[in-house]
Amino acid sequence: MSDCLFCKIASGEIKGNIVFEDEHLVAFRDINPQAPMHVLIVPRRHIASLNELDSSDDALVGEMVRRAAAIAKQEGHAEIGYRTVFNCNAGAGQTVFHIHLHVLGGRRFGWPPG
Ligand code: AMP
Ligand code: ZN
Repeated sequence: MSDCLFCKIASGEIKGNIVFEDEHLVAFRDINPQAPMHVLIVPRRHIASLNELDSSDDALVGEMVRRAAAIAKQEGHAEIGYRTVFNCNAGAGQTVFHIHLHVLGGRRFGWPPG
């Protein structure tokens, strides 16, 4: 999508602090981190929200979740614990309408979330 921030980061048009990329996914550090580790994992393909997913995206979403675990492990948070979040639509706080999995670690997280 031409006017999407995360499409532009995924394509390299806008610079991100990238921690991982492959054919399907790009992971980069959140510009306004909410924890010592705060990484966003996005698909290269534009998908506006979780509501747009269908069964053909199952493998892609699986890759996103497994990549979150791999990044958390790589950054030393796997054993103590980390938080993964998909916000869907404005009521849940989604501000960028290209799906992204937040991966946060390095502090304690409360439950329920705010
Ligand atoms: P959400 O509120 O779930 O849509 O999350 C969007 C996230 O994108 C927020 O945590 C922002 O801090 C983050 N963000 C916005 N612009 C950028 C950017 N240019 N690079 C990295 N992260 C960004
Ligand atoms: Zn996009």
